[in-house]
Amino acid sequence: MGDVLEQLRARGHEQVTFCNDESSGLRAIIAIHDTTLGPAIGGVRMWPYKTESEALEDVLRLSRGMTFKAAAAGLNLGGGKAVIIGDPKKDKSEALFRAYGRFVEGLGGRYITAEDVGTDVRAMEWVRMETQFVTGISRALGGSGDPAPVTALGVFMGMRATAQELWGSDALEGRRVLIQGVGAVGYLLARHLVNAGARVTCCDLDREMLARAQRELGVGVVEPQHIFDLEAEFFAPCALGGVLNDETIPRLKVHAIAGSANNVLHNEKRHGRMLTERGILYAPDYVINAGGLINVANELEGYDQERAFAQAESIYEILRRIYRIAREEDVPTSVAADNLALERMGSIAKLRDVYVPGASRSRRRRMPGVS
Ligand code: NAD
Repeated sequence: MGDVLEQLRARGHEQVTFCNDESSGLRAIIAIHDTTLGPAIGGVRMWPYKTESEALEDVLRLSRGMTFKAAAAGLNLGGGKAVIIGDPKKDKSEALFRAYGRFVEGLGGRYITAEDVGTDVRAMEWVRMETQFVTGISRALGGSGDPAPVTALGVFMGMRATAQELWGSDALEGRRVLIQGVGAVGYLLARHLVNAGARVTCCDLDREMLARAQRELGVGVVEPQHIFDLEAEFFAPCALGGVLNDETIPRLKVHAIAGSANNVLHNEKRHGRMLTERGILYAPDYVINAGGLINVANELEGYDQERAFAQAESIYEILRRIYRIAREEDVPTSVAADNLALERMGSIAKLRDVYVPGASRSRRRRMPGVS
């Protein structure tokens, strides 16, 4: 695993907690990257990591990503993440997640956990038996429930901001949009677009999901392997990560990429550059898909879906700012997004220089919301 503290220093992490509980079999790592803006938030991933080094690398990388995502989204939250070493198909149990919840509780609110790959709402309900610092609880228990409607609205608003940047008008009427994956987010995005008068073509590996979109929304359909070859204004990846790579980018005949999938670029630097060289505007994935995070952040203040929708609409203005920074600084949009996040963290941290009688100079402890 090498020198752990050196790895923390290299990426600017504040704290990493290794958790071991013999009786439940829990082996987990919780990473808090940065709490400049507020408590660190991020999901807990359960994965059969082959080595502890692999688990540590994943949690350090993902927690850092959360810092940028929360900061760019305008939330008063920092970045964190946790990994549980285990096979989600075999090793999930009440005791294991409750043990995990107790470690989260022990951090006193510096880290707020949520669902991620390999964990689900039921696991979060076990975690909640031991800690208040958990989000992503079902609507029935007063939580935020399914994040897809808020995510889809955020992507739709991001597309409108992208249209404004490219054509000086954010109307999507008549624009051709290719959606890869009509699952939870892709389907709702297609509905927004159809209602806005866009011409939507979709693909999905799941024939039933595709047939539903065709039947209910009247969208066009295409085989999944041909989605990269069609001419359109937008390509909206709403399935998996890594879909934009050396093989697919040269095939694209679109003006912009704007979708919900995480880690869309197989290699962030190389493929971000390839898109820029081809004049394709890329809406950074972690900015345009922040609706899911906005949704769970809302749960911390008492969930209100109307407020979550209103906050997701702010993705429009955030992307406009990112496109402006990219133009002015002549950098790829992904770099502009990072710069926006860093700038916000820097300026908010400086607020503590202002002396307020009776208030500590330490970080604000108020619950998160959109600034
Ligand atoms: P989902 O599983 O409901 O839908 C994904 C759909 O993509 C499925 O219907 C699947 O059959 C299809 N698919 C998979 N591989 C495909 C391929 N190669 N070609 C065509 N279709 C394919 O997932 P979701 O919740 O809609 O999320 C979609 C993406 O957005 C994921 O990458 C997810 O990480 C990301 N995301 C989701 C949310 C959210 O609120 N659900 C928030 C942020 C990011």
